[in-house]
Amino acid sequence: MPNQDTRAPLPAIKVLLPRLPAAAKLMPYLERIDSARTYSNYGPLTREFTQRLGDLVGGSHTTLTSNGTTAIELALRLRARPGGGHCLMPAFTFIASAHAVCNAGLTPYLLETDPNSLALTPEIAAAALDSVPGPVAAVLVVSAFGAPPDLAAWAAFEERHGVPVVFDAAAAVTSLSGIGHQPVCVSLHATKVLGIGEGGAIFCADPDFAARATAMTGFGFLGAERVSSLRGGNYRISEYAAAVGLAVMDGLPAHVQALRDLTTAYACRLEGKSAVLQRGAGSGWVTMTLNAIVPADQVEATTQRLDEAKVEWRRWWGLGCHRHPAFADVPRADLRVTDALAPRVIGLPFHDGLSQADLDRVAGCLQ
Ligand SMILES: *Cc1c(COP(=O)(O)O)cnc(C)c1O
Repeated sequence: MPNQDTRAPLPAIKVLLPRLPAAAKLMPYLERIDSARTYSNYGPLTREFTQRLGDLVGGSHTTLTSNGTTAIELALRLRARPGGGHCLMPAFTFIASAHAVCNAGLTPYLLETDPNSLALTPEIAAAALDSVPGPVAAVLVVSAFGAPPDLAAWAAFEERHGVPVVFDAAAAVTSLSGIGHQPVCVSLHATKVLGIGEGGAIFCADPDFAARATAMTGFGFLGAERVSSLRGGNYRISEYAAAVGLAVMDGLPAHVQALRDLTTAYACRLEGKSAVLQRGAGSGWVTMTLNAIVPADQVEATTQRLDEAKVEWRRWWGLGCHRHPAFADVPRADLRVTDALAPRVIGLPFHDGLSQADLDRVAGCLQ
């Protein structure tokens, strides 16, 4: 019997509740590890997972990494102009992007994003090129919460301006196609659509780039010899992580469909309201962090209603990288668009534990 006592306190609605494959789904893969007695170092499960991941995004070359942040770091280390300098990047992104840029030895230069796509555009980057106080070594383009980046527009940007582009498409692994010579980095963190716990990948059509990136994940060993040909580190995943990855791939179509359906359920409930879902979410692509974009003058009342209804919400990307103490001093453009936009982007509860009544309760807080 459902609880009929209306005086009972409403249980809080969690904002995110990931679900990775159950132990039983992992077992066949774990037994393969027991037989093979290879536990890391690009073993058979890692190779199979790499192949299936590459097939998912359309057959590009694939380098698995320890996480999404290290994927970006390695891609920038390989691609940035020699001599280093600034890396153009949006201020509105998850803070991991800024860490990766710094770990690659570059200085972030924070830029605005387009308020419609929530992404950096080639136009914004091109306009900034002259105002950066020093050489520009690379651009890090960020996919907004899983939206597919405009690969063709950025290929044209690189051709025109000669600045290498790397994509932080951390949350977009199921939205990608047509990957070219500009590396596309994704995260396989538990909170992403294709979550394995911790992991990442770099996709690139250039086989030489992929070979070098993969070598960098294993102490720079190129080929079979234990000779370090380029500087890297240990950025590998273990066979156990690959086992989880293979089990995730088995269930991926159903998982993506469920995310699509949940997005639709929200979209129906928001019809006619001034709060809108992030453009494109649920139609062309799916996300694990569904955002409502709320009009500026309703942000405070909306978050207050959510709090009162015990609906957990989150600004997944906070208020911009420049608002974090660790990055408060990095050089940046005028960020008034970001400052106005970031507070309006509100992450809604989004997981398979939400009932229809829960969705009604969330939507009831949005106007
Ligand atoms: C998740 C995320 C990352 C970091 O990925 P990890 O696997 O957690 O290191 C980087 N950038 C963006 C935009 C992300 O959403």
